[in-house]
Order: sequence, then C-alpha cells, then structure tokens
Amino acid sequence: MTNKELANLIFPNITKTIADYENLYPKRNLDEKAVVTRFAPSPTGFVHLGSLFSSFVARKVATQTNGICFLRIEDTDQERLVENSVTEIIRDLKNYQIEFDEGMVSEEEEKGNYGPYIQSKRKDIYQAFAKYLIEEGLAYPCFLTKEELEEMREVQEASKERLGCYGKYAKYRDLPNEMVAEKINNGEPYIIRLKSPGNFDKKVVVNDLIRGKIEFPENDIDLIIIKKDGLPTYHFAHLVDDYLMGTTHVIRGDEWVSSLPVHVQLFEVFGFKAPKYAHLSPLMKIDEETGGKRKLSKRKDPELAVSFYHEAGIPEEAVLLYLMTIANSNFEAWFDANPNASMNEFTFDFKKVSASGALFDLEKLNNISKNYISKLKATEVYDRTLIYAKEFDLAFASLLEKYPDYSTAIFNIEREQKKPRKDYATFKDVKKEVWYMYDELFTGDINYEFGKVNDKSEIHTILSTYFTKYYNVNDDKETWFNKIKELSKELGYCPDMKEYKAAPDAYKGNVADISTVIRVALTSCSQTPDLYEILKLLGTERIQNRISNF
Ligand code: GLU
Repeated sequence: MTNKELANLIFPNITKTIADYENLYPKRNLDEKAVVTRFAPSPTGFVHLGSLFSSFVARKVATQTNGICFLRIEDTDQERLVENSVTEIIRDLKNYQIEFDEGMVSEEEEKGNYGPYIQSKRKDIYQAFAKYLIEEGLAYPCFLTKEELEEMREVQEASKERLGCYGKYAKYRDLPNEMVAEKINNGEPYIIRLKSPGNFDKKVVVNDLIRGKIEFPENDIDLIIIKKDGLPTYHFAHLVDDYLMGTTHVIRGDEWVSSLPVHVQLFEVFGFKAPKYAHLSPLMKIDEETGGKRKLSKRKDPELAVSFYHEAGIPEEAVLLYLMTIANSNFEAWFDANPNASMNEFTFDFKKVSASGALFDLEKLNNISKNYISKLKATEVYDRTLIYAKEFDLAFASLLEKYPDYSTAIFNIEREQKKPRKDYATFKDVKKEVWYMYDELFTGDINYEFGKVNDKSEIHTILSTYFTKYYNVNDDKETWFNKIKELSKELGYCPDMKEYKAAPDAYKGNVADISTVIRVALTSCSQTPDLYEILKLLGTERIQNRISNF
C-alpha cells in the first residue's frame, strides 16, 4: 500500500492540495517592509492586560509599516469555548482603539481575503496539509490508547527520561501501511502525529526579535498534528494559518518560546519560510506577601483584567500610553520631549523591548493618566466623566446633566493652559475632587479641615471682615488678591510670604492662612483649585448661604 493510498484512506474527502490553497491565498502584494501580524486569541474569556499588550504591539507594528494586522480566532480546543467571547474580545479591543484590517468582526462574520479567520471553519485546510505529510511519509496515524500513554508517562518519569512520544516510545511510527489500514478499517481510534525528523542531540538556533538568538535541542517528539476530532493542535494550526495568511511576524506571549523548536521544524518540513518571532514577556508585579517578583495572575490580581481600568475610570488612552511605556524603554523620554504628539508618531522598536518582563506599576499608570486627563479640554472632561458616571454613579451623572455649563466651568479651572492642574487620575476621581461645588452634595455633616487658624472667633472675624468689607463678585483676579492682602494686613497677618518668612513671630500668620480660612469655610477642603475661580463660580448668594450655614 502506498503512502498516497493510505492518505486517501484517512482523508477521503480532502481533494484540495496545498498548491490549491496557495492559489486561493496568493502572496500578499505589500511593500517589502510591510509587516503582517495577527492577534490570535482563543475564545475562552475576557481580554486581559497581557493579551491587550500583545495585540497592541501587533497592531502598532503593522500600522507603522503600512502592513496588515488581522484577528484570528483559535477555537480548536472546543471544550474550552466561552459563549460570546469573540464579541467581547472585539468590543474590548475596540475600546482600546485596536481594530483589525482583516479577520473576525463578530461571532459569525469576517472580512478579508485570507479567511476563514476562525480555526474551526478551516478543518479541510488543515487536513489537506496533514494529508500531504502522510503522502510524503512525514506523518502517521498513532493508535496509542489513553492507558498506553499514561503508562508511557509513568515509565518515562520513573526512569527520569524526557516525556513524550519519541524514539522507542513512538510505537506506530514505522508500522507498515497495510497494518495501519487494517486498524483504521477496524475502526480503531487514532490521531495523526508528525514523524519528527529532529535529533535531540543536535542544536537549532532561533532568532527572536526580543530575546535575540536562542539555542534549543532539535525537536524529536512526534507531536500530534491532528486530534481525534479532526481539528489540528495549536502548533499545526499555527503553521498552516500563518503560512497561508502571509504572517511575517508572530508576536505572542513568551509561554510559546519553548514551542519554537517545534514551530521551526514544522516550517522546515514543509519547506516554508518561517515568520519572524517576537515573544513578549509577561507583565510582572511585586508580590505583596513574599516581596518577590512574579507574573500578574488572573486569579490573584484584579488589575490583570481590562475591565479593572474601565471600572476605575482610567481613560483607555492612558492605559495605551502606559503599555507603550513598558513596551519600549525609550518611549517615556520621547513623550517627555514631544508631550503633545500622538503616540502614533512614535516608532516602536523590537530591540527596545525588555526581555525580562516589565514590572507593572499602577502608580505610574495613575501618573500617566493624571497627565493625560490634565490635557483634555473641560468639555471632554465633562463628557467623559458623564459617560463614566452614567455607568457607575447615577446620582453624580444626574448632577452633571442638570448643570452642564457650571460643571464644565468647574473642570475648566486651571485647565487649557500651559501647566494645567493635575487633579484627576481617573474619571472616578472627578467627583472626589469637586463634590463641594454642588450644593446637593455640600450638605449634611461636613467635616471642615481647618489648618493653622482654627480658633472659632478668629475664623469668624476673618470671614465677616472679608465678606462685609472686601468681597465683591465683580473683582478681577488682581483686585481680588490685593483685597485679600489688605484684609491680611488689617487683621495682623503678613501679606507677603517673603516678609513673613523673615519674621514669622511678628505676625499672627500670613496671607495664605487667610485664604485657607475662606477656602475651608466655603468648600470644607484645605486644598482646592484656584480660590478666586471657585468664589466666582459659587456666586454671591451661594457664598452667603455657605457662610451662614457654616
Ligand atoms: N491562541 C494562542 C493563545 O491564545 C495564540 C498564540 C499565538 O499568538 O500564536 O495563546
């Protein structure tokens, strides 16, 4: 029995050949430097920061080279599928401005000429490639039962040998075709294995774009390529898909580094040029208990889920800026030098990616976020805080909707200027920073945070002198401040900070202490944005009310 006959017995319905598929999916007509990347998640759940990171890098590299980035859904593990995952993956990534040139656009639909982009619909294609291997004597059906596989494992463990199906353990590797056919005709279950041409004593060197040259022993394990259900394993699907889809760069998590010898071997067996590989290190954190560095874990770390940032009200743009900061070590300096540039103008470079795993630093993300929000226009802060509040704080949302102009004016204090104020790290923070500006929130038991001047009658004197004698709603800022200085002088507080520092004992306090009293009486807080603006926005009537309530 020839290999060809055996291949026909195993795959009677597979009529297309590799050449047919090569014709169906011709080489992409792209610029020489254009990079074709993909994001290839399994539809097993939500997008986490790690997958966001890989897709972000893949998208960035494709965009900056006028290449293509596509979304391929890897659902060959049919037992682990989670309903609606594809929709969720697409939605989550879109929120982070990551969209694809080709690939799945919903659970069912897709766009692009290199599909199907979901592996479960590509069964025939994988089988055509497997059929070719059988014809060439490079793959074979393996009938090892579950029990036999377990026994093999026990023996290998007991004798401290490498695990897997290789050498003498690859029992069906050289079974004559006639006997193979007989077993198949008898209905014995089987899977298809690669007849590995590798020699474990020889070395293979793979050049990873991030890690540089990595040396491995050649793979000599007869890996499964087609499973019992007729679907391929991850390794085989990677070969077939990335070959036919014209992927030039495989950007993925470093859990796949150890599979490189297998992947390189598969491409060699077919005589295809392997794509370039870039393995991203996982995001790390300092473990609170042990103090040691460890991977962010789905189980232990809520910050690994992208929903964490959404719920915290951290703008997606800030998360992306942060990801770029950890992706490329030179980005931060670039962004400092070009603070108003778009991240799209920055050129990502694989050589600048840390191979050892970036430490994920929430504090830093908050800082980036603070900076980012400080550069937004007041109207944008209004719009985005409202969107956030509508989802997470309906009471505040209704206040924002009731007072759109007033709220925008609050957000405009010390904004849209060269050095804008950096109060909000998140859209959730906004309310915490401005609540006192809304009478609806400025009620009940208010805790006034007076500082140095906290004597009741002194406070009373300061307030009554100011509001009866000096305060005028129409004052411009300079006049307003001069009046505060006059008030200080009148009450024995030094109007000039320098003079005060030179002789603090000569005064009751200084002009800042006077402002603090007014500030706290009106807002209850010792720190607020510009007091002049606050007084203006509150207006005479509300100021009077607040003072008399106080
Ligand atoms: N489906 C694989 C995963 O989710 C894809 C790895 C790759 O990008 O090749 O890890």
